[in-house]
Amino acid sequence: MINKPPQAPSIAPGIAPAMTPANAPGQVSLVGAGPGDPDLLTLKAVKTIAAATVILVDDLVNEAVLAHASPKARIVYVGKRGGCASTPQAFIEKLMVSEALKGENVVRLKGGDPLVFGRSGEEIEALQKAGITVQVVNGITAALGALASLNTALTHRDHAHGMLMVTGHAKPGDPGTDWRALAHTARQAKLTLVVYMGVAAAQRIQDELLQCLAADTPVAIVQDATLPSQRQALCTLDCLHQTLTEQRMASPCVLLIGDVLQGLASLGHTQEAVLARGQIRAM
Ligand code: SAH
Repeated sequence: MINKPPQAPSIAPGIAPAMTPANAPGQVSLVGAGPGDPDLLTLKAVKTIAAATVILVDDLVNEAVLAHASPKARIVYVGKRGGCASTPQAFIEKLMVSEALKGENVVRLKGGDPLVFGRSGEEIEALQKAGITVQVVNGITAALGALASLNTALTHRDHAHGMLMVTGHAKPGDPGTDWRALAHTARQAKLTLVVYMGVAAAQRIQDELLQCLAADTPVAIVQDATLPSQRQALCTLDCLHQTLTEQRMASPCVLLIGDVLQGLASLGHTQEAVLARGQIRAM
């Protein structure tokens, strides 16, 4: 008996093929597009994007990743650009649900990792409530992309036992992060602070952190991490806001705060081993 050779699957294992209303309801994949450099997409992200019939593209996604999309896929931009109002979250959730119910294979493409400050928690809840299959495909989060570009680590046996990822932007009506408590914890537990969406509130973050952290705590600011337009500056905590202003740095930026960043000074980015208090350096 001759065994038939197994047929090559038209799509990689583990990736749901595009579904049609005839065979099943669609599904939604929340896919991380990484911090900017399109080469940082995971293979699973590439395969999932290729299988999509509808792609909802968020703010901060490098459009170059759409090169992996099928020419037949419908692309919908749902992020805000150039100061325009963003598409309301409720609308995006409704759109994902209705497209999936029509049998579409929906990809919601988000910057960085979908599970880091990406409102994926709300979206997963909404989709599950509607009975829709959801999968999450990780991406490289901005802070880790920034760190790799600086050749540094946020943990180091001599300086930091861990790191805390915090948002500088609370939802309306929420008092937001207790920066003073955070600074206290970071100091006591030797943690590096990683602040996303921190540019607008930088002065307040600086003032409140200074109540518990030393003025000469090193800070690295990285804008447009992993993109050709990437810029970074090294300063001390008491100069955080001043550095952003003087260096004309703007969102998207990650703020990396803690003694472990002192290592940057000796990693070839600057000549001096130690950053003096009040010093600012564009790298
Ligand atoms: N899910 C994303 C974060 C979304 S919140 C992630 O995992 O990276 C948006 C914030 O992410 C921005 O305000 C900024 O703080 C940060 N960010 C996203 N892309 C960035 C980039 N290329 N460089 C620096 N910061 C970035």
